Amino acid sequence: MSGLVPLRADLELVGYHSPQVAAPVRLNTNESPYPPPETWRDDLVGEIERIAFNRYPDREAGELRRAVAESHGVRPEEVFCANGSNEVLQCLLLAFGGPGRRALIFEPTYALHSHIARLSGTEVVAGGRGPDFRVDPDQAERLLADVNPEITFLCSPNNPTGTAERPEVVARVADAAAGLVVVDEAYGQFSRSSAMALRSPERAGLVVVRTFSKTWAMAACRLGYLVADSAVVAGCEAAALPYHLSSFSQAAGVLALRYQREMEARVAAVAEERGRLSAGLADLPVEWWPSDANFILFRPTAREATAVWQGLLDAGVLVRDCSSWDGLGGCLRVTVGTPKENDRFLKALGHCLGDAP
Ligand code: PMP
Repeated sequence: MSGLVPLRADLELVGYHSPQVAAPVRLNTNESPYPPPETWRDDLVGEIERIAFNRYPDREAGELRRAVAESHGVRPEEVFCANGSNEVLQCLLLAFGGPGRRALIFEPTYALHSHIARLSGTEVVAGGRGPDFRVDPDQAERLLADVNPEITFLCSPNNPTGTAERPEVVARVADAAAGLVVVDEAYGQFSRSSAMALRSPERAGLVVVRTFSKTWAMAACRLGYLVADSAVVAGCEAAALPYHLSSFSQAAGVLALRYQREMEARVAAVAEERGRLSAGLADLPVEWWPSDANFILFRPTAREATAVWQGLLDAGVLVRDCSSWDGLGGCLRVTVGTPKENDRFLKALGHCLGDAP
């Protein structure tokens, strides 16, 4: 006889998953508002025709690793690719976390860091952030000394606050940590600084994680990677399932890297719109935080956040309600969309806040 078993208590991810509500303007999951180049699509169709579908994919993802390595001026042994940066994070935690080990995070931050850590049996210790949502390096040094974590997560730019850490702060954390320091740069290309430049033999535990989901406009492909010491890469390979990365994803990534200039043009367009959105928010009764990413965190001061979220949805605009997250009371997060989408958002927000032009 078989029977149902209660779900593991730690599998409840309260409040993280973004409701997949149908809305004409979806500004809730930090995707690129622009598709990848047409020619990339055409090339990909050609590549798909060449895939031997009866065969498993290249287990090492050799061509993709070489292409990613070349784009960062590192060796392929320093690159690990997986199904989105979420799977990269999962492999890191399976390989280097686990029972009896600790992960340090700084809340509020990307919820999957603590969630995947707990799933892997890793104890999570949470520090806080300063009023500007940046990591306080003195507090970080104290926590590193007290907790001695195997893995410390920095998210830069940080989701959902949009703030990037100063390179000096990342360097201080990397120098003070005895274990791995994982810098999640899912939004790295929107920011002026990157932890890639801080990697050195003395900081062998510095790991930089990137994704093709945001700036590369390829969220549907599920592709991410890390750049780290080859021992970290070997650990992730040991934790990943065999043949985890499909031939399709590998081909999509190799082709994308030939379109660096087009990616940079999309990033520039989004950054310009981010400026326009920020200026629009500055004219409304909201508190908002300058962002180095493709989204902006804001707090309506004249009306309750969830009512504003609903009001925006009624006007066809879906944003992220972060108001129930620790440290983010009353906050909403909007992803930078196309100019038309951003206009519609600003107009709807103005109406919601009783400040319609
Ligand atoms: N890190 C951060 C900070 C994110 O915001 C996201 C996506 N929401 C991810 C990682 C995961 O991205 P993906 O798995 O699509 O690469």
